[in-house]
Amino acid sequence: MDSETIESPSAHVYLEYDPANPPPRPGPQWTRFVCISDTHSHFFPVPDGDVLLHSGDLTETGTLRNFEVTMDWLRKLPHHNKIIIAGNHDLTLHRGWYGQNYSRWHGPHKQDEEKIMDLVKGEEAHKAGIVYLEDEEYDFQAKEDGRVWSVYGSPGQWSPWFYDWAFNYNPGAEAERLLAKFPKTDILLTKDTDSYSLTHGPPHNVLDSTLAGDHVGCPTLAAHMQKLRPRIHLFGHIHEGHGAELREWSQGESTIYVNAANWPMGPRAEEIRSKGVRPTFGGPGFRPIIVDLLD
Ligand SMILES: [Zn+2]
Repeated sequence: MDSETIESPSAHVYLEYDPANPPPRPGPQWTRFVCISDTHSHFFPVPDGDVLLHSGDLTETGTLRNFEVTMDWLRKLPHHNKIIIAGNHDLTLHRGWYGQNYSRWHGPHKQDEEKIMDLVKGEEAHKAGIVYLEDEEYDFQAKEDGRVWSVYGSPGQWSPWFYDWAFNYNPGAEAERLLAKFPKTDILLTKDTDSYSLTHGPPHNVLDSTLAGDHVGCPTLAAHMQKLRPRIHLFGHIHEGHGAELREWSQGESTIYVNAANWPMGPRAEEIRSKGVRPTFGGPGFRPIIVDLLD
């Protein structure tokens, strides 16, 4: 199991903590980011913070009902800023593609994409501090009179080569073209990036190990990280890779890699089960990951 906290002079990361009594911020000059991912229409306690980041797979298959309950949960969370992206399970957010492919998941019941987009981007979402990013940058103040943070969120690619799920992109040239557009920001949110469906996930060899022990992260994304060097790179998708890692760059900057997948899966889930406890979404071993950054 990964260590439960990571500390550097400018970042503190908490993986395991008492959700009823989360660790205090290191000081007033720090901003608290709470990272979640792959919640798949499941709900659990999320510690308060200045910013909530959700790295996709909000829902099971992106039905209107899925989005109604999921957005209701997100709206009620206390964070003033809630930044979210789509994952490959959020089928209906991939407009155009969904219209051609819906029947494989939803049979004759094509979901109302307009209503869903309104739940994600409409007035109610806006009032609750929710910002949905689709290959775009967003700048915001996490605290009144505080510094401005920049975030870029990418769900992947608009024309999937791989037809099974939404927002896929091809490794190699297509990934290169997509990644070339990523600006340098404080925070980067990506979807899976595994080698066959490259879509809200990790760079190669970073918290990307599957049940079979394969490292399925995206090599192109890994190469680009040396240039992008965000302070937080959040992803999910590889549910069994929940964890965080500190990467220090030769330029003196550092990146906290966070795989915040809250779906309990893999050896850690088995270990919990072997103690006679049922692993739960966002529960022990799969908690929301708290990242405190020095402003
Ligand atoms: Zn997922």
